[in-house]
Amino acid sequence: MRRGFFGEYGGAFVPEALLPRLEELDRAFVEATADGEFEREYVRLLKEYVGRPSALTECANVSRHCGGGRLFLKREDLNHTGAHKINNALGQALLARRMGKKELIAETGAGMHGTATATVAALFGMKCTVYMGAVDVKRQAPNVARMKALGAEVVEVHDGLATLKEAVDAALTAYVEQPETFYLLGSAVGPHPFPTMVRRFQSVIGREAREQFLAREGRLPDYALACVGGGSNAIGLFSAFVDDASVKLVGVEPAGRGLHTGDHAATLVAGRPSLIHGFRSYVLADGAGEPLPVYSISAGLDYPGVGPEHAFLKDSGRASYVAVTDDEAVEAFRTLCRLEGIIPALESAHALAQALKMLPGLREDETLLVNLSGRGDKDLDQVLPLLGL
Ligand SMILES: *Cc1c(COP(=O)(O)O)cnc(C)c1O
Repeated sequence: MRRGFFGEYGGAFVPEALLPRLEELDRAFVEATADGEFEREYVRLLKEYVGRPSALTECANVSRHCGGGRLFLKREDLNHTGAHKINNALGQALLARRMGKKELIAETGAGMHGTATATVAALFGMKCTVYMGAVDVKRQAPNVARMKALGAEVVEVHDGLATLKEAVDAALTAYVEQPETFYLLGSAVGPHPFPTMVRRFQSVIGREAREQFLAREGRLPDYALACVGGGSNAIGLFSAFVDDASVKLVGVEPAGRGLHTGDHAATLVAGRPSLIHGFRSYVLADGAGEPLPVYSISAGLDYPGVGPEHAFLKDSGRASYVAVTDDEAVEAFRTLCRLEGIIPALESAHALAQALKMLPGLREDETLLVNLSGRGDKDLDQVLPLLGL
């Protein structure tokens, strides 16, 4: 495969001025990851700062409640800052430091990536500016407060729908205009080398989960599920199992108010190949290829594009992609809280909802591993009224 491409997807379709900077970034990434010293420092911080390895938890109560197969969670919610985003933020910040950069910029939807970036900026003594849609600033207020406390500047973006796509637009523009900055991109999207880099730094999820599952059960799970916004937590989990033909990979997208309503962000399920933000992938686009307005209850999932490797995995049939609605995600949120004492992020609750649908149809010896990408404290203000509380 051509470097930076996954089949016909990926690439770097960016303004001429940006190409040399992306090439410089790619060279630095390749050199760094071949350098044992860089790898040792990354692994040390994952252990001593993030708190890895994150746990593997069997949800016996949910399994009993649903009947059928057994459910396991990979607990990325237990990481420092409460989601998988910190794995990637740490890796890229180490790279920024190695490149002599002193200023990080980032986009954020739910605020988890903004928080992770503000966190590593504080750790490494760097300046940090986070672009966030004005709608998301409102629905994820606890994370805005966290970013400010950590010393980051949060720039509200008012264009368009004022959610994640517009935040990426604003961050990309700032990156083009400010050559001294390092753009710490939060998902497995964007022009090359970002999807490859983000996959690399998130692959620790799958590596750990595979090892932990084998150690506990003496075999691999039958299914591995993850929610898909841009696709970073999913590709981090899938990467370890792609070569294990017996493990079925399922990505779960947000069907919002229902696919038939048009109010959703199920890019792989309902989109088609096009260009967005400098790369080729499935996109929810109009006839002219312009990204359409998207919607999800979950601020971390409402993006009209998706990581190019997922587009490739879909076309090749190695992974399948489905969508669950807001209501199903909220119901799964309630189930995990009440039956297991774990408050999941609304994003992660999408993957859980799909698991709850599948479990009753499985045999008792079949196992399903869900990546619990983050914790749900940030979502409580939004969810409690929906649960009548
Ligand atoms: C950001 C986020 C997501 C979605 O991003 P991916 O790149 O698709 O993983 C999912 N879960 C949580 C908790 C998040 O913060």
